[in-house]
Amino acid sequence: MTGSTGTTFSTSPPSAFHAQEMASTVLQLPQELRQKVELVVDASYPFEACGVMIGHNENTAGEVAVEDVFHARNLNTERARDRFLLDPEDHLAADRVARQRGLEIVGFWHSHPDHPAQPSTTDLETAWEGHSYLIVSTAAFGTNVLKSWRLDGGQFLEEQIVRPSCR
Ligand SMILES: [Zn+2]
Repeated sequence: MTGSTGTTFSTSPPSAFHAQEMASTVLQLPQELRQKVELVVDASYPFEACGVMIGHNENTAGEVAVEDVFHARNLNTERARDRFLLDPEDHLAADRVARQRGLEIVGFWHSHPDHPAQPSTTDLETAWEGHSYLIVSTAAFGTNVLKSWRLDGGQFLEEQIVRPSCR
């Protein structure tokens, strides 16, 4: 894992996210990658799906460019409706592919079946700074809401998601 360090917090935050403040970073997510994630999320319903996003991390403008997304196995079979545990082998495989392509792991995505696209306290406990956490809220009728989050000072701040212009 590159660029991730364990962070300990002296106080436990009252909420997993801060509703008003926005993160200083922007997630550039191409439409085809968004669709790739939504396809897996819909097929996995009512269970949580999860995966890895690779790309370029923050440039001077604070942009995180996603170049590819991968689906990973959710090892938590007992509580697959509301918990996910990303398979470490899939994590390593994504890291290998990223480095082969001159990229890095920029974040992770997972779904919240029948729950809002807001991070849970479990998400907060397992998150690292410097990564984007894309959460997809999904329901039986297939409505997907995507929100991206960044850990900042022990709380999640929402990050703007944009579609990159043609490169
Ligand atoms: Zn979650």
